[in-house]
Amino acid sequence: MKTYPIPLIPGPTRVPKSVLEAYLTDYGSGDLEPEYSDLYAETQSQLQHIFQTKNQFAIMTGEGMAGLWGAMKSCIVPGDKVLSVASGIFGYGFSEMAAGLGARVKTVGFEYDCIADSDTVEAAIKEFQPKMITAVHCETPSGTLNPIGEIGELVKKYQVPLFYVDAVASAGGTPLATDAWGIDLCLGGSQKCLSAAPDMALVSVSNRAWEIIEKIDYRGYDALKPWRSALANSWFPYTPSWHSTASLSIACGLIIAEGLAAAIARHERVAAYCRQRIESMGLSIFPRQESSSAPTVTVIQVPHGQDWDTLNTKFRKLGLAVGGAFGPLAGKVFRIGHMGSQAEMELVTEGLDVIEQSIAG
Ligand SMILES: *Cc1c(COP(=O)(O)O)cnc(C)c1O
Repeated sequence: MKTYPIPLIPGPTRVPKSVLEAYLTDYGSGDLEPEYSDLYAETQSQLQHIFQTKNQFAIMTGEGMAGLWGAMKSCIVPGDKVLSVASGIFGYGFSEMAAGLGARVKTVGFEYDCIADSDTVEAAIKEFQPKMITAVHCETPSGTLNPIGEIGELVKKYQVPLFYVDAVASAGGTPLATDAWGIDLCLGGSQKCLSAAPDMALVSVSNRAWEIIEKIDYRGYDALKPWRSALANSWFPYTPSWHSTASLSIACGLIIAEGLAAAIARHERVAAYCRQRIESMGLSIFPRQESSSAPTVTVIQVPHGQDWDTLNTKFRKLGLAVGGAFGPLAGKVFRIGHMGSQAEMELVTEGLDVIEQSIAG
């Protein structure tokens, strides 16, 4: 099915009509018209509010992965030391990505149902003295939220040059203090809590990261360097998608109109309700400790004796789409994405009713 009446996939999330409607305008050339630069500037300031940063953004066409690779390639050359804090699929993915670029990688690994422990991370920093630390805020595949603020303290204490955080599934749905936590490269995507289409990658870049980016001078479609002066010169590295930028800006505007704190509180309320309902059905939450749970996605163990594909078919027949799992978690867990437009009590209640009915018979 293309569309489900109860969409609870942990991204891409349901796109509100006003956000979709931005694509219907027949925009001119973003390269030529000053109004595009005005829109870019406005979108950047909206993102600065949501990410709590004064840093400049690269607002790139492409899905989150475009920014994920672009930021890494722009900052890392073969032989650089990267400490990867990994507690899930995206965290371990960072290790592979850096190793693929020829970096010397040390992975501080944790179980998938846990979050990072800062004492272990501290010991690794002391021993390895990395150029960059990577971490994932919300590990979407396992439903956990890592203590990025604590790792940020260690980045400051040991003067690690670069702190790169994937906040794709947390920005706009959880507290994210990019500047206070000392995040140099903070990655966001359009299709999770921001609830726009999957076509924009956002990276906030600190001044010290820009210095490194200038020196490394990586050239490529996904390079960050041209974005440093793009707005000032109204000269973008490629034809910008005016449609996507306009849509993203409307999406950010919805969060800001609601109030960032109110949006975060809505996610927390819905997540707490979701966990409580799941437990009262006799199902088990995947993260080992409730305090590790992300407020944007709830990951649940497939009940003993039940087969995920069969269960998923039942859900879908009743109009509910949830996320399955991949990698080492495939067939073991499923995921309710209550992020962005999907963090609505009524919608999540309908989804939980379907789950309750399906596991019963
Ligand atoms: C969604 C997501 C991304 C972007 O990856 P896709 O799976 O291609 O959408 C990156 N990091 C995290 C943590 C995500 O949840």
